[in-house]
Amino acid sequence: MTQQNFGGIGMTSQRTRDRLINRLREQGIKDASVLEVLGRTPRHIFLDEALSHRAYEDSALPIGYQQTLSQPYIVALMTELILSAGPRKRVLEIGTGSGYQTAVLAQLVERVYSVERILPLQSKARERMRTLGLSNVYMKHADGGMGWEARGPYDAVIVTAAPESVPEPLIAQLDDGGLLVIPVGDGRKQELKLFRKNGANLEEISVTPVMFVPLLEGTVG
Ligand code: SAH
Repeated sequence: MTQQNFGGIGMTSQRTRDRLINRLREQGIKDASVLEVLGRTPRHIFLDEALSHRAYEDSALPIGYQQTLSQPYIVALMTELILSAGPRKRVLEIGTGSGYQTAVLAQLVERVYSVERILPLQSKARERMRTLGLSNVYMKHADGGMGWEARGPYDAVIVTAAPESVPEPLIAQLDDGGLLVIPVGDGRKQELKLFRKNGANLEEISVTPVMFVPLLEGTVG
């Protein structure tokens, strides 16, 4: 059995995953559906084989192209925020990266639309969705700062790279009652923010300090 499979061997075993879930619970993640999905999603298939033995540590890990697989706690927290106002049907994700957050979301909402600016990362993520049998994920190679207008409006938008200020198209493409979860700031200081669109109003909550790679313009590959 290879690392690409769901096999429960060594560091990829269910017990190792259960330990991670207990830690997330201790850190304050409460949504049982989120914990359940993180517990059953094999994080090791989102990493190169050389790093897969570290997949169930609660830390960010490199995925090439100077990008990182987000820390499980942050994935759990952002997912919990997305679900905090009830079930979501159409979710836009900016920054597919490895596709780990994408795969978690795809098991909890109806459809995920995910935009990535680095083509080789997107191709690998697409393959992983196929491996996991997740057929409700739609991907686009583009600069996600523009959102994905053709498929909107969305009832949630999640951004996994940090802009210095919130890109206006992401707010414009939110449906009424929609949520936006986004890290905002520079390389020294960032804050995870939750916005809620209410008619013409935008409510804003600061959640916690975070550190994400920057949201960059243009595309690669
Ligand atoms: N959730 C991902 C995080 C990857 S890191 C994971 O857990 O694997 C952030 C990702 O955002 C990188 O893949 C980076 O290429 C992408 N990114 C940065 N700026 C972007 C932009 N303007 N449009 C789309 N993707 C972007």
